[in-house]
Amino acid sequence: MRLPNIPVWDDDPAWQPPSPLAGDTSTDVCVIGLGGSGLVAVRALRAVGMRVIGIDAVDVGAGAAGRNGGLLLAGIADFHHDAVRLLGHDAAVATYRRTLVELDTVFAECPLSTRRTGSLRIAASLAELDDCRAQLAQLQLDGFPAAWYRGDEGEGLLIPSDGVMQPLRRVRDMADQAMRAGATLHSGTRADDICGTRVRTDRGTINCGRVIVAVDGRLEVLLPELAPRVRTARLQMLATAPSPGRQIPRPVYWRDGFEYWQQLPDGSIALGGFRDTDIDTEWTHDAAPTAGIQQRLDHFLRTHIGTQAPVTHRWAASVSYTASAAPICEEVRDGVFAIGAYSGTGNVVGALCARDAVSWAATGA
Ligand SMILES: Cc1cc2nc3c(=O)[nH]c(=O)nc-3n(C[C@H](O)[C@H](O)[C@H](O)COP(=O)(O)OP(=O)(O)OC[C@H]3O[C@@H](n4cnc5c(N)ncnc54)[C@H](O)[C@@H]3O)c2cc1C
Repeated sequence: MRLPNIPVWDDDPAWQPPSPLAGDTSTDVCVIGLGGSGLVAVRALRAVGMRVIGIDAVDVGAGAAGRNGGLLLAGIADFHHDAVRLLGHDAAVATYRRTLVELDTVFAECPLSTRRTGSLRIAASLAELDDCRAQLAQLQLDGFPAAWYRGDEGEGLLIPSDGVMQPLRRVRDMADQAMRAGATLHSGTRADDICGTRVRTDRGTINCGRVIVAVDGRLEVLLPELAPRVRTARLQMLATAPSPGRQIPRPVYWRDGFEYWQQLPDGSIALGGFRDTDIDTEWTHDAAPTAGIQQRLDHFLRTHIGTQAPVTHRWAASVSYTASAAPICEEVRDGVFAIGAYSGTGNVVGALCARDAVSWAATGA
């Protein structure tokens, strides 16, 4: 039996999706995917005066961007000291610095759907405590804000520059702003094929100069040449009714970030994780919650977070991973730029990749 699959974020019955494409058209740039990354690209393209059409197979924020944990974290999916090993010191520092700038932008542009609370990385083991120390040392060496933390949640790191958001509200606000800035957006419009720079959809063909594919989960379905490097996985979450006995002022990243939770302004708790405990079934294109992972989330909610508030929502969504954890951000075909595969942490990095895609579209570089 399928479990209901509705995120706690879907709280606005008045939301009206943009209308589907109605026949063939043309533009400077077509952006495929109206999640947070695609919408950053759409807005940045308008800011440099380009004509842009953004399409989504379902709706604004229908993928991970509107169904995630809402943690806004500096850096890439790897912790900063690991990123230094992965990317090299200068590139890792430059990337971290860019994510800090992007965070400032997110908090400034979307004050109603974001909160700068800081975040906690709490160690689940002695080995992870050592890893937290290594992360702190690298962050401090590079002059980034971070402090040691010991408190109700446990011991680890406090990153004051981070925060949280209501992710679906944020992307819907971004879509409204983009349309007011002159972008054309279509929901219910699926790209079936990209032929040169012609995007064939189920509603008509878009002829354009450039294509930006901004799809995280299932990226390799639309661009099969990425299949050797990109793999889609499911991530699952639940949310509770308001939990008045618990005060969780900052989002928590636990067990290397496999589990993560935040408390919403009304006191409810959104919790995700345990993908690695059922790894074979979670490498999938299916985006429906499963009983096995949801039971682990239930158990953790009661025994670790310590709330008895009833579970009101259960949901899942797709993201994609690369073997190295470095995202895809490149021209994959002549005139077609792909961004995605943020390895589970794309709310901020996706925006950086979108800005790179826009500078490619605007300047060719
Ligand atoms: C449960 C969960 C929790 C997470 N928690 C966090 C977190 O706390 N912090 C964090 O930083 N990251 C988190 N992530 C990851 C983050 O959500 C994603 O990396 C990010 O939202 C990706 O956004 P995006 O806009 O790049 O892509 P997506 O959200 O994947 O958006 C792509 C859009 O493209 C559309 N689309 C797909 N195929 C087509 C097609 N053929 N034609 C037209 N449209 C198409 C989809 O409908 C979708 O709306 C989480 C992810 C999940 C699933």
